Amino acid sequence: MSDGDRLAELAKRRGFYFQSSEPYGGAAGFYTFGPQGAAVKHNVEDAWRERFTVREGNMEIQSPTVMPEPVFEASGHLDTFDDMIVECADCGSSHRADHLVEDHTDIEEAESLPGSEVEDLIADNDVACPTCGTELAGRPVEDFNLMFQTNIGPGDAQPGYLRPETAQGIFVDVPRLKEYARNQLPFGVTQIGPAYRNEISPRGGLKRLREFTQAELELFVDPQEDEPPLAEVADVVLPLYSAEQQQAEDGEIQELTVREAVDEGVVGEPWIAYYLGVGRQWYERIGVDLDRFRYRQHLSGERAHYASDCWDAEADVSLPGEDPDWIEITGYAYRSDYDLKKHADHADDEFSVFKQYDEPVTVERPTVDPDMSYLGPAFGGQAQAVVDALADLAANQPDAFEGDEVTVEVDGENVTVPVEKTGFAVEEQTEHGEHLTPHVVEPSFGVDRVVYTVLTHAYREDEVDGEPRTYLALDPEVAPTTVGVFPLLDDLEGRARDLTERLRANGLPATYDDSGSIGRRYRRQDEIGTPFCVTLDERTPEDDTVTIRDRDTTDQVRVPVDELPAVLADLRAGRRSFEDLETPPRA
Ligand code: AMP
Repeated sequence: MSDGDRLAELAKRRGFYFQSSEPYGGAAGFYTFGPQGAAVKHNVEDAWRERFTVREGNMEIQSPTVMPEPVFEASGHLDTFDDMIVECADCGSSHRADHLVEDHTDIEEAESLPGSEVEDLIADNDVACPTCGTELAGRPVEDFNLMFQTNIGPGDAQPGYLRPETAQGIFVDVPRLKEYARNQLPFGVTQIGPAYRNEISPRGGLKRLREFTQAELELFVDPQEDEPPLAEVADVVLPLYSAEQQQAEDGEIQELTVREAVDEGVVGEPWIAYYLGVGRQWYERIGVDLDRFRYRQHLSGERAHYASDCWDAEADVSLPGEDPDWIEITGYAYRSDYDLKKHADHADDEFSVFKQYDEPVTVERPTVDPDMSYLGPAFGGQAQAVVDALADLAANQPDAFEGDEVTVEVDGENVTVPVEKTGFAVEEQTEHGEHLTPHVVEPSFGVDRVVYTVLTHAYREDEVDGEPRTYLALDPEVAPTTVGVFPLLDDLEGRARDLTERLRANGLPATYDDSGSIGRRYRRQDEIGTPFCVTLDERTPEDDTVTIRDRDTTDQVRVPVDELPAVLADLRAGRRSFEDLETPPRA
């Protein structure tokens, strides 16, 4: 069994995650988080919220998952949110064409290649259908739109789509959200919630789902003036796999601090470098193994044309001894003013922010005030269009008014107007500010993939007392249960139940277990990653102490019952380590 399978087996047996709608045969790409998995996912989301919403001073929203079609016309998803699909002529199964190429060649990011090249690569490499083995050479590689369509309302329903990213819910609400931010840049808006993509080939476990959870931050900045607080993360070391290194013969990962990455221009956008630093600290906090982690820059073909710099956080989710299996867990993109400009063009609202100048400035503004008693009779129904065209020309090309006549294009035809009839003038105006479309910096986390990474990186096998043990070395902050409480004697059951209640009342997820040998009780908790187990034994009634056992080392220390809630809360929050308990400070 591969490690991925072993994890899937444990995940199902212990209630982390499993295929949804199983009694009906299931549907690929849909998973349920069981009791343990839902708890881990919540803990990861809470840790994300604490770092990216609360500590950064951002606003969190929850917007609907269904959005009307014009939103996705504006965002470009209707036209371009496609993956490459190839269908087998024999068995009719469909596959991600770029993934087939990656599986059969050394190419790592075939997504960045044009469809025709992928078609050629399939033919040149004799790629066969993974389902039935028929050669796919000559089969067309086509675009497949990943959005799920639905209808909004009955009858002549309006088409709607399940959002393919939480970000659009934020962008469309900017006209209102900017008011809550009092029109002051920078401001950040976060959202944690489901996103839907009709993936062509959903992959094992939580890696490629059709419904998944994103945690996204959209930071709106003034590109001229706003700078990130780089000093806060300047010394954080980033494992960077730049586009240049990916294309080099012996390309390698460069370990640079955030400061070095910016100074040396390896990360082009300081805001992106800042979030790569914050991100690295956060991954470490929740238990991502940084020896199996990297930031990979997008190759130019992968990057959207409007994005000036994009990096993916990637984790290797194989276990030692297996072939590396790198998956993208977060995308970091500098999206410029693309999204808001698109919505401003398509929607009937104001997506810019009024930027007040420190001092009013006087500017020369070319204006027109056409003589309608001339334009009306001369151009009839087109007169207003001529006025608009003259105003545009005055604003953009005032020199055009230097001669006796001026020519503008209206409905595809050139019309000529005497300059004296245009009322052209250059006026001095006092301006107090300008309308600025904010630029967007976006860290976009896939929560399910982060959870999967954390579980894979925590998966361990060892021996305890000569017996094999499987356990999850989860960080106490993300573990589903913080503490297992075990009475060692029947007489102590009441006390142990009371203690469990008391710990829960202190906000600590606690589990009571009195069944089976103490070894079996430990094993059960180890397998779901419970970091600490407390036993009540014969000494407990005498001196009101209990033992706490550390999951990873299996070491034990005695602690007064009264101190237990505070000690466990400290251990869970990382304020104290188990070693601190083993070596108490000298009096
Ligand atoms: P993207 O908008 O494609 O950059 O996606 C942002 C993040 O969402 C990625 O870094 C992934 O972690 C996550 N993600 C994207 N697609 C899927 C999927 N099909 N299943 C699970 N997570 C996904």
